[in-house]
Amino acid sequence: MISQKMYELGSKRSVIREIFEYAKKRGAEIGPENVYDFSIGNPNVPAPEKVKETIVKLLDTCDPVALHGYTSAQGDFGVRDTIAKSINRRFGTNLTADHLYMTVGAAASISICCKAVALPGDEFITFAPFFTEYRVFVEAAGGKLIVIPVREEDFQIDLAAFEARINENTKGVIINSPNNPSGVVYSEQTIIEVCDILRKKEAEYGHPIYMIADEPYREIVYDGIKVPYIMNYYKNTFVCYSYSKALSLPGERIGYVAVSNEMEEEKAIYAAVCGAGRALGYVCAPSLFQRVVAECVEETADLSVYKRNRELLSGKLTEYGYHCVRPDGAFYLFVKALEPDAYAFYEKAKKYELLLVPGDDFGCPGYVRIAYCVKTSQIEAALPAFRKLAQEYGVIE
Ligand code: PLP
Repeated sequence: MISQKMYELGSKRSVIREIFEYAKKRGAEIGPENVYDFSIGNPNVPAPEKVKETIVKLLDTCDPVALHGYTSAQGDFGVRDTIAKSINRRFGTNLTADHLYMTVGAAASISICCKAVALPGDEFITFAPFFTEYRVFVEAAGGKLIVIPVREEDFQIDLAAFEARINENTKGVIINSPNNPSGVVYSEQTIIEVCDILRKKEAEYGHPIYMIADEPYREIVYDGIKVPYIMNYYKNTFVCYSYSKALSLPGERIGYVAVSNEMEEEKAIYAAVCGAGRALGYVCAPSLFQRVVAECVEETADLSVYKRNRELLSGKLTEYGYHCVRPDGAFYLFVKALEPDAYAFYEKAKKYELLLVPGDDFGCPGYVRIAYCVKTSQIEAALPAFRKLAQEYGVIE
């Protein structure tokens, strides 16, 4: 007898993974250059040269036993200290090494935070559209995911719906900005109001409600837009960060949880984070890459490629009659499907070898996500297909 739940998770891939696998299969049939795969958020920009130089330097100069050995379960002290100082410098916080827990990416960070605080029956709220794996992480921690429907006019948060859905079982809120899949950055005003509501509800129910800020796209923003650092607005905050996106290291699996030093019972909470990491087996994040990110702590890949892709794609798609959600950050364009059923639209797009992801699994039917973290040449090559698709729907001549 095995766990039915785990069997289902393992045997039914996510929609994104299904499409990604289809793209590989189709590419083998007709040539990868003829398949316009916009399914997955895998950065196509290489990591900066400094990453490579650092790896080589570490390999050349460090004692290999120490370099490839276990670190402390929560991560190397020096690494955590460097990252904490960088966060403090950039956001005016007061974190120390003992507020940081190194992980294998944001997925692990979110799982750890949920596991650290969840008790049976607890609810975690998130906002549509949302990263599909939240449901998996929350349920694996024994919680229940509650989704606040999208506010379609601007994709900010429907504050009234949010407030109405909080109850005595609410343990946490998972918030993701810049957002996957919408590309929206929640405004400072939205964040202030979300935090005000949470403080009011904490007082009403007499227990903390934790904010889990999922921030793998923090640096990928356009037109100088500001991404509020949520710890500065709300004390019961965890920040889940990853070097997968802005530093282009998704396969190296490296990131962290930062526990606000202003949290009530911060030491106990940090211990629970360490305990959750232990229980889930997320201890001693990859040693080489802990050291690499510490030396490259404020580096990013060349993010100008995403800006160029975003302008090209959103400009052309708008010209062809598509409605795109304003893309202020991340590397996704969220586009209204040209018929109510996004799956039917996805199938029609597939006929033109355009692989888009239906919004339904992100909690937002009627839309598709286009991951534009691809080569600009792929977008250029795909534009005629987007045009023909719009023509098929009679949106343009
Ligand atoms: N959160 C969001 C919003 C994401 O888009 C992703 C990955 O695409 C993750 C978390 C997981 O990131 P990581 O690769 O660091 O585990």
